[in-house]
Amino acid sequence: MSGPVAPADANPQVPGAGLACPEPTLELLAGRATEVGGTPVVRVLPKRERRTVGAWCFADHFGPADADRAGMNVGPHPHIGLQTVTWLVEGRVLHRDSLGSEQLIRPGQLNLMTAGRGVSHAEETPPGADGRLHGVQLWVAQPEATRAGDPDFEHHDTLPEAEAGGAVATVLVGGFAGVRSPARTDTPLVGVDLALRGGEATFPLEPGFEYGLVPLAGTWRVDGAGLAPGVLAYLGEGRTELRLDGEPGSRALLLGGEPFAEPVLMWWNFVGRHRDELDAARRDWEGHSGRFGEVDSPLDRLEAPAPYWAT
Ligand code: MN
Repeated sequence: MSGPVAPADANPQVPGAGLACPEPTLELLAGRATEVGGTPVVRVLPKRERRTVGAWCFADHFGPADADRAGMNVGPHPHIGLQTVTWLVEGRVLHRDSLGSEQLIRPGQLNLMTAGRGVSHAEETPPGADGRLHGVQLWVAQPEATRAGDPDFEHHDTLPEAEAGGAVATVLVGGFAGVRSPARTDTPLVGVDLALRGGEATFPLEPGFEYGLVPLAGTWRVDGAGLAPGVLAYLGEGRTELRLDGEPGSRALLLGGEPFAEPVLMWWNFVGRHRDELDAARRDWEGHSGRFGEVDSPLDRLEAPAPYWAT
C-alpha cells in the first residue's frame, strides 16, 4: 500500500522530531485516520514525535473493513530505499510486482518486498474474495549499505511461534523469545504478532532495542495503561521484558530494533536521505524510465504528486 505521509510527520527538520529515548517509557501517540486505495486506515507511524522505531518507518493499520464494499485496490506504484511488510489479521491480498512476483497472502503469512534502488508493485483484492479485510502495512527503512541494492521479494507461508503465559507470539522478522523468522533483515530488527488467549504473558526483550506496540484488536494493559487500536504505544529502550495483560482475543504488533541512526527523509512512496534523490525517483517514475520495471496489473498506475517542497 501507499499513501502520502503528512509533512509534519515525515520532515526530519521539524523541531523535536525523533528524540532518542534511552530508557523505558510509555508514550501513547494517537494515529492519523486516512484512506488508501478505498480502505480506511489509521497511520500510527511516522509521527512527528516518533518517526522511526528501530528501522520501522511506516505503519498503517487498515480495517477491519468489509472487503466487498471497500476492498484494497492500489495500482502500480514505485518504492525506493525501503522494505514493505504486509501482515493480515483477516482477508486476502494479491501482490504483483515488477520482479514478476504474483503472490496471494493470507492471515499468518508474510510478504516482504525489498525496494533497494527501485521496484514497483500493485495490491489487489483477489477475485471472489469476500468477508473482512484487516491487517497492517509496514515499511522498514533500508540502511546505507543496502538501499541502492537490488530489489527482492520474499513470501513466507509459515512463521515460527513462541508461547508464554496466555499469549502466542508469531515472529514476522528478527528473533524473539528464542525463535527466529527466516525473513531478510538489513538492520537489527524485530516484528512480532501477539495474540492473547487469556490471562497475562511475559516475554523477554532486547535492552539495546527500542520498541513500540500497535494494538490491532481488543484491549491491552501495558505498564498499567489501557491500550486499544488507533495508537502507537512507544516503549523506549532498556527493557528486559514485556508484561502484557488484556482480554482474550486481543491482537497487537510489537515493533522493535536498534535505533536507526541515519536521517530518513520520506515522501510519497520513497525513503531516502535527500530531496534530490526523491525528486530523481519521481522523475524516473513519471518518465517511465525503466528503473521501476512494469507490473502486470489490471489497475491504473498511480501518478506521483508534486513533493511539498516544490509547491
Ligand atoms: Mn506499496
